[in-house]
Amino acid sequence: MKKLALTILSGALLLSACTKKLCDYTRDEAQLWAKASTIAEMNQKVSKLTPEEKEQLVRNWLVLNIPEEDKETVIQGCAAILSHPKLGFYAELFANTPVNMHEADGGAWAAGDHISLSSGLLAEKNPESIRDTLTHELFHIFNDREHGAGGISALNEGTAIWIFNMTFYEDDPLKMELGLAEPAIGTKLYYRDIGIPGYPKDIEFGVPTDLTPKGKEVYDMLQEADPSRLPIYDEAKMKEYFDFFSDLNRNQEFSTYLGLFEERLQLWLQAH
Ligand SMILES: [Zn+2]
Repeated sequence: MKKLALTILSGALLLSACTKKLCDYTRDEAQLWAKASTIAEMNQKVSKLTPEEKEQLVRNWLVLNIPEEDKETVIQGCAAILSHPKLGFYAELFANTPVNMHEADGGAWAAGDHISLSSGLLAEKNPESIRDTLTHELFHIFNDREHGAGGISALNEGTAIWIFNMTFYEDDPLKMELGLAEPAIGTKLYYRDIGIPGYPKDIEFGVPTDLTPKGKEVYDMLQEADPSRLPIYDEAKMKEYFDFFSDLNRNQEFSTYLGLFEERLQLWLQAH
């Protein structure tokens, strides 16, 4: 009888170890779990958590080297990323990418192994801007780790913009219509027509050639949602696509430029 009770007890212990909630994993456990999971598995598991559990996950997994009073905004912004069913895989990025701070009026950057948010952005205390900024900057980290579009390239910037347009701006008809094409082609036009001091005028497309399985899963998702049908795996087709837009001037009022881009895109789609 005593033996049976012990067996039942150890069974219960085993069960509780197996059912430890994702949001209660330590960072080490989280990294192991994420490494062994596909994108689809991560999305599925994370989507089952409640909003409170998503916040708890971020608290347990993400290293935040920022002032105490700014942490809650960032945690809420990150939980908002996980609230989109296609972005549960960002949990792996949270477990592996510390978020730091630098003094500046605004903006943020991805710096190889970490993200740096400006003090100005944090001072806004706006979870929605943190959500968009981290969705973008962490995608640069994803591209680097999963061998996606790299460096200063049209597709590195384009995919990092498209990922948050296609998830959080689905009700913005123009953003959705412009798809991945404008963020990518427009980035190339931006460097050429406006430019950034110290950076080249003529940037690469950044066509990925050796995506990891996780990279491929996410790029499939980006392409499935993309009405502009940008040929991201084909350098020659990317050039042909770009040439069709290359006489557009990016250095003019942004909404005028967007309208011209949209017209041109429709012509391209009708002809192809
Ligand atoms: Zn960027």
